[in-house]
Amino acid sequence: MPAVFFGHGNPMNAIQTNRYTESWHRFGESIPRPKAVLAISAHWYGADMAVSGSISPETIHDFSGFPRELFEITWPAPGSPELAQRVQQLLLPLNVRFDQQRGIDHGSWSVLCHVFPEADIPVVQLSIDESKAAEFHYEVGRLLQPLRDEAILIVGSGNIVHNLRAYDWGDQAVPAFDWALRFEAGVRGLILDGRERELADFSRLGDDARLSVPSPDHFLPLLNVMGLRREGDVVSFPVEGIEGGSLSMLSVRIG
Ligand code: ZN
Repeated sequence: MPAVFFGHGNPMNAIQTNRYTESWHRFGESIPRPKAVLAISAHWYGADMAVSGSISPETIHDFSGFPRELFEITWPAPGSPELAQRVQQLLLPLNVRFDQQRGIDHGSWSVLCHVFPEADIPVVQLSIDESKAAEFHYEVGRLLQPLRDEAILIVGSGNIVHNLRAYDWGDQAVPAFDWALRFEAGVRGLILDGRERELADFSRLGDDARLSVPSPDHFLPLLNVMGLRREGDVVSFPVEGIEGGSLSMLSVRIG
């Protein structure tokens, strides 16, 4: 099974059709049908590691200031306590909390609703432990590698460049900032050179990194996905582009 990192961008993508959403849809059609999806989203970033264990996870509308239409969306994919337990087992001896209440956040559903419009594939979410260093998240990806042989699709969802203070809400087509272009190119170069492990040291890119990754939540899911890469995996970028000057929509597919 391939693994993928999606730049999710604006939640409005959930109800729009554009070149990003079309590429997410094509991705879904291009892969073998997964048994379930394990999603690691920037929007479940907290004090510990947890996995969602609900049989029917609710759709979480974790944003504000968007049209009512977006709040009315429900994306009723089932959960999979079985996959949640398998994730706990693979990550031992790490203590991963089984969370029966947690639903699916917009970092996951705003993209997955285009990948799997039928909402018929179970989805489990794994949280990002904010107390851990970047390298840890890469290692978590490595520990989850066996799932690729068990027909589980692992999806990371964030944005490689994510600076909402610099983002131009009025004109999403403005040219990208130089620092955003340089940082994204640096990340892409390391991936293409097979040096993705060095992404854990992204702060070495100095000011470009400080501006592109003002907080690590949207960047770390990329490290999870990079940890899933195996020798011989082809890497591709199903969609690219920087929106509003400072939001990278780059997707990275492994395998
Ligand atoms: Zn987000």
